Amino acid sequence: MKFFDSHCHLQFEAFDGLTESIVSDMIKSDSKAIIVGSSIESSKEGVLLSKKYPQCLYSSVGVHPVHSLDFEIYKDGSERKVSVEYPQDLNKLRELIDDNVKAIGECGIDFSYLRGLNGNDEQIAEWKEKQINCFKFQINLAKEFNLPLILHIRKEYMVGLDILNQINFKGKVLFHFFKGKYSDFEEILKYSNCYFSFSNIVTYDNSMDKVLKDMPLDRFMIETDAPYVSPIGKKGEINEPKNVFYVAEKISKVKDMNIEDVLDISYDNAMKFFNI
Ligand SMILES: [Zn+2]
Repeated sequence: MKFFDSHCHLQFEAFDGLTESIVSDMIKSDSKAIIVGSSIESSKEGVLLSKKYPQCLYSSVGVHPVHSLDFEIYKDGSERKVSVEYPQDLNKLRELIDDNVKAIGECGIDFSYLRGLNGNDEQIAEWKEKQINCFKFQINLAKEFNLPLILHIRKEYMVGLDILNQINFKGKVLFHFFKGKYSDFEEILKYSNCYFSFSNIVTYDNSMDKVLKDMPLDRFMIETDAPYVSPIGKKGEINEPKNVFYVAEKISKVKDMNIEDVLDISYDNAMKFFNI
């Protein structure tokens, strides 16, 4: 099965000892994946890994909104134990960019993590601003290097779109792990440079079916966000790139298409989007 996983984190510690067999299967089927960075440190690891397997892995470098403050607000067990330095020196992203780097991201807006910090109104406003500035820096970096953007946005799709418009970003944009409302989908769709990527979350229930049904075939990709978000029925197992199959299966059912066609179309869309 040939597939393109537009978003995964094979460089995370969760894959230690597993990467080689996952990647050799991918090479056999001519499959590909984007190894997405979420901090300077994990971006660097992603670039190194993708350079080891240039026939199937490519990378993106970026700082996730969860790492945009001056201190750690969330520690994920799946990530490499290399400590993330705070504040992140965003200029270091520039040094990582080379031919194997196909996008900037994941970056964007996620205010959900701020809730747990119990800040007062003033602090919350300051944290939001820091997150927005971190995002803006990376939009400008994508502009500078003429690279597409991979966005991580939770709920605040219109805030994200607004910021892109403020900066007048005309490059390509991928809304990764899209789980917005139908109205968000409609609004984003108006921008012909914007694309959507779907993870296994769409298999959990029917809430995204209408979006999937109305999704133009030239505007979508599929992803795993591995090691996170395993397909239904495989919860508790570590997720891996080949599980995009279940996303493709769901899309094929909703759109009444063959799974192979969904896999092929999303593959071609990703190749074009990432300029491979
Ligand atoms: Zn991710």
